[in-house]
Amino acid sequence: MLFRGKKGVVGPYGAKVPAAHVLTNHLVKPFVTGLNVRMSPRFHITTYGCQMNKNDSERIAGLLQGLGFVATEDEAAADLILVNTCSVRQSAEDRVYGSQEKYLEYKKTNPKLIVAVTGCLPGRDKKGEFRKRLPATDLYFPTPDMVHLPKWIAELRPDLVNSEAYEQDYLKIHPLRAPSVQAYVTIQTGCNKFCTYCVVPYARGLERNRPAKEILEEVRGLLARGVLEITLLGQTVNSYQATDPETFSPENPYNDHFAALLWELNQLAGLERLHWTAAHPLSMTDEVIDALALPKQVRYLHLPVQSGSSEVLRRMNRKYTREQYLHVIRKIKDRCPDLALGSDIIVGFSGETPEQFEETLSLYREVQYDISYNAQYSQRSETLAAKLFPDDVAAEEKRRRWDELQALMEETSLRKNEAFVGKEVNVLVERVNHGYATGNAESLKLCRFPTKDASLVGKIVPMRVASVKAWVLEGEASPS
Ligand code: SF4
Repeated sequence: MLFRGKKGVVGPYGAKVPAAHVLTNHLVKPFVTGLNVRMSPRFHITTYGCQMNKNDSERIAGLLQGLGFVATEDEAAADLILVNTCSVRQSAEDRVYGSQEKYLEYKKTNPKLIVAVTGCLPGRDKKGEFRKRLPATDLYFPTPDMVHLPKWIAELRPDLVNSEAYEQDYLKIHPLRAPSVQAYVTIQTGCNKFCTYCVVPYARGLERNRPAKEILEEVRGLLARGVLEITLLGQTVNSYQATDPETFSPENPYNDHFAALLWELNQLAGLERLHWTAAHPLSMTDEVIDALALPKQVRYLHLPVQSGSSEVLRRMNRKYTREQYLHVIRKIKDRCPDLALGSDIIVGFSGETPEQFEETLSLYREVQYDISYNAQYSQRSETLAAKLFPDDVAAEEKRRRWDELQALMEETSLRKNEAFVGKEVNVLVERVNHGYATGNAESLKLCRFPTKDASLVGKIVPMRVASVKAWVLEGEASPS
């Protein structure tokens, strides 16, 4: 059997991090000062939402580790509980409000416990309305303000943290990552696009990009630790502008900074797969489209459309029409016919008529997405859409449209997966349990094959596809 990977560098690791998760499970170790033996202070992080939030939590964990904290899975035993919130859906916010009772209980036995809430919720709480529903919370700050966390902790708990605690640039804080052959690397934060339904520009501020030199150094460090797959993160990652374009090599064929960054990363030994998310259709320049064919690029592109109706796109302030989006898709398919495509779609946006929803279905059929993340529109206060447009599509109708789109997605996905039967794919194994190895193919499609060999975790294993479902390709590991 042919395996590619780096033996002994990375230990077994678990499943992909779910939407709400605890990041780390380092053991708590006591430290000794003179005659006193004191436990290191402990922190617990709960993260809701997207990959950007997960990477922010890794950044906060890195910052806390720098202050002498260690992570604990036992929330009740923590000195600091931090909740990294997501405002995309009301349900995620409700869970944050719902956990406050529990934290108040913890404070009865541990009155010095610090509870911190960050992420999108504080970012969009311009009037302080949401803060009132968080009675157990001591620190409440939008994500970019995490740089002040050391000072604030020092003020609240001088017994734990030196009052001269430092501040750092947010993008320079080193994330604390669980061992894995996959890693997220933030190259940009904030957004300048101001889609009318979105809280991100308010919660995270305007777009800021990291220097290319820093990104390349971080990736080199990850590859040296055995990482094989890198996912670059940014709100509109392909609009990346390097502050130091002189970092790019003279041989680099691209002028577009994002394409140039992809080319540089492709030159790094040890990198097997390069993925990036989320792309904005406006920033899919010809050079970025050309770079999709670079050898280490995964065979998947996530290009959110949100709606198939130009009129709805106009109200969303997406800055492109249906025709412009489809033009970009055609160029991508010409360059990379085998690329799997994904999207984000909102149904039931303000004023969306049945005919406009039909346009979304027809666009879906035309593009033939492999997957889409479909959401029923949930109006968020503080957004432009909430100020400009009524949330006037009935909840039952939103649900009906969502069901119809989901059914189309599953049918399309299954049909596209059927084309893989009999073909060989390369699976980056993420876990082996219950007699099966699971991981993603180059197209990021989920795969599984029977084995009990736990040493395959973290390796790339060829698999011959024997059967498919809408969300999984199944087969046998191919003999070498
Ligand atoms: S591009 Fe639009 S949806 Fe994406 S983060 Fe920016 S404002 Fe939000």
